[in-house]
Amino acid sequence: MLPELDEVSAPYWTGGAVGELRIAHCGSCRSYLHPPRGACPDCDAALEFRTVSGNGTLFTFTVNYQQFHPDVPTPFVIALVELDEQPGLRVATNIVDCDPAAVVSGMPVRVRFEEHGEVFVPVFAPARPLT
Ligand SMILES: [Zn+2]
Repeated sequence: MLPELDEVSAPYWTGGAVGELRIAHCGSCRSYLHPPRGACPDCDAALEFRTVSGNGTLFTFTVNYQQFHPDVPTPFVIALVELDEQPGLRVATNIVDCDPAAVVSGMPVRVRFEEHGEVFVPVFAPARPLT
């Protein structure tokens, strides 16, 4: 279930060690890109990572009841979260710390990190208590 750390994506998976969500950014286009890649697909410039707020909105989600791995309890929520920094900047992630039945698209979420050795997986929890 854990990502392969490579040179291109490592800042995304390790920023949580210091509580930071880091997203690749093109200085020429002044835009964020995710998932990270070696160069900007629009202008070919090198990308650098910037620390973002960690705030976003749940764009869409699915609740998974199928057990893929004995260490991952079900049900769990697989989601696309749109980050506040830029329209369309979406991160594939999990929604945690809430009842999956109470999750709704459009709800505000905030990042937190699940530590697995050197990897800090960015996941999101409701920004406000769910009613
Ligand atoms: Zn660019």
